[in-house]
Amino acid sequence: MTVQQKMKTLTHFINGVEVAGTSGRFSEVYNPSTGEVIAQAPLATKEEVKQAIQLAKAAFPGWKKTAIGKRVEVLHHFRQLLIEKQDELIALICEESGKTREDAKGEIVRGIESVDMAISAPQMLKGEYSVNVGGNINAFSAKSPLGVVATIAPFNFPVMVPLAITSMAVAVGNAVILKPSERVPISALFISKLWKEAGLPDGIWTVVNGDKEAVNELLENKEIQAISFVGSTPVAEYIYQTGTKHNKRVAAFGGGKNFMIVMPDANLEQTANAFLGAAYGAASQRCMAISGALVVGKDTEQRFTDILKEKIAQLKIGPYTDPEVDFGPVITQQSKDVIIRYIDGAIAEGANLVIDGRNPKICETSKGFYLGPTLLNNVTPDMTIFKEEVFGPARIVVGVQTLQEAIDVINNHELGNGVTMFTNSGAAARKFQEEIEVGMVGVNVPIPIPVGYHNFGGWKRSKFGEGHMFGPDQARFFTKAKTISERWPDETENTTSTFAFPSNNDVKS
Ligand code: NAD
Repeated sequence: MTVQQKMKTLTHFINGVEVAGTSGRFSEVYNPSTGEVIAQAPLATKEEVKQAIQLAKAAFPGWKKTAIGKRVEVLHHFRQLLIEKQDELIALICEESGKTREDAKGEIVRGIESVDMAISAPQMLKGEYSVNVGGNINAFSAKSPLGVVATIAPFNFPVMVPLAITSMAVAVGNAVILKPSERVPISALFISKLWKEAGLPDGIWTVVNGDKEAVNELLENKEIQAISFVGSTPVAEYIYQTGTKHNKRVAAFGGGKNFMIVMPDANLEQTANAFLGAAYGAASQRCMAISGALVVGKDTEQRFTDILKEKIAQLKIGPYTDPEVDFGPVITQQSKDVIIRYIDGAIAEGANLVIDGRNPKICETSKGFYLGPTLLNNVTPDMTIFKEEVFGPARIVVGVQTLQEAIDVINNHELGNGVTMFTNSGAAARKFQEEIEVGMVGVNVPIPIPVGYHNFGGWKRSKFGEGHMFGPDQARFFTKAKTISERWPDETENTTSTFAFPSNNDVKS
């Protein structure tokens, strides 16, 4: 059978059913481990997106009125299905993203954490109540869903990010439209079927596949009330600026350049082990991946680099079908080419290549998009490889003299998603936590990604807008507050008209 014959044509998922695309435009979906095209995803027209929005709008009032307990029942069922079907889901994630099975499983577990948080929606939706704020008037505030909301996801977490940006939105009563990455649309379509099986009414969960054309309709359409975006910083900034121009609530999560500060008193063996997984796991295609080590002191820098060199040489790269591999390929050949250009550029700017992963030996016939772990030292903050996010396994070691210098270097970086520090000193850790200008901070933790019930989000150009992913802030993002003042006068009560502005007290000097 030829590759062409194996290729599947995907659909959208609109109003509870799979709907074929009509644009005639498609994106190719690869298996990055083999380099083969495995499917083609339709790229929606503006008109197709408009129709999907109208159907979501029609479904919204019914879901909004559904008792919160009933809504949560659907989420419980959905959670159960994610667990029951996790092997199928792992297989899909591996095939379309190239992740190892263990890594794919980890992303499902973290995705389910978002569903768990969404199951706590009744707690999140409890309002505030004040009795007798004046003249037998009671006041209370309640949270209402927004209506139709749009979510736009990146390629690197085909399941976790879609679950993280949609579950709470569904639970608090919105109709949600997801635009997955055109590079990994298969898992999102599979999730759609689980929502349906869980009993979610048609129209409350929609998947439109597409590219910029579909996204622009979501940004401009007046029926879309809010946008939760996850992806690269340039696109995040565009989404924020365009969405807010069209009066939408926008939270746009962008890229990261996440450093690990290594102090001279740290256990270097343990720190190097932490660095390896956090820096190279998932072929470094994580927004919270450690991009490089900022090592304090010349001697520590040399010793740490030597330990890394030895350990990196032991890493195994290959397809997810081999359970022994530490990480797989990057997502596309284009992505591989970009990463190689960053490595070449860094060498041209004066960095030293400690380990070269540009031509990994996988197997003679593999056409997968593999890159081996690469390490560069003698890197300085003025180099491109320091300044920009590299979404692939090229990592750097930067020498600094003091903790203060490390903090300053990080604070001067335009990105501020995550950061971590390895040390045995409580005083150094405290100074670091207080002074660092980054959204998610770790101490002796390889990847400081918050658990599902804490807010997730970077600072500076790693996030645009006010909302957070995960955590209680997400329930606020996907709802609007209504404040009600009510009084039920007795029939016999004498009332008069009052023309002064309502207030309780006279101003006293
Ligand atoms: P991307 O920005 O290329 O794409 C993200 C989404 O935006 C996709 O759905 C894509 O179709 C859409 N898109 C792309 N270009 C667009 C354009 N010009 N106009 C409108 N829409 C557009 O990101 P990616 O390569 O899929 O994902 C990797 C990036 O995502 C990395 O930068 C990574 O750090 C970031 N990321 C961030 C977080 C976070 O929480 N901060 C989490 C995961 C990934």
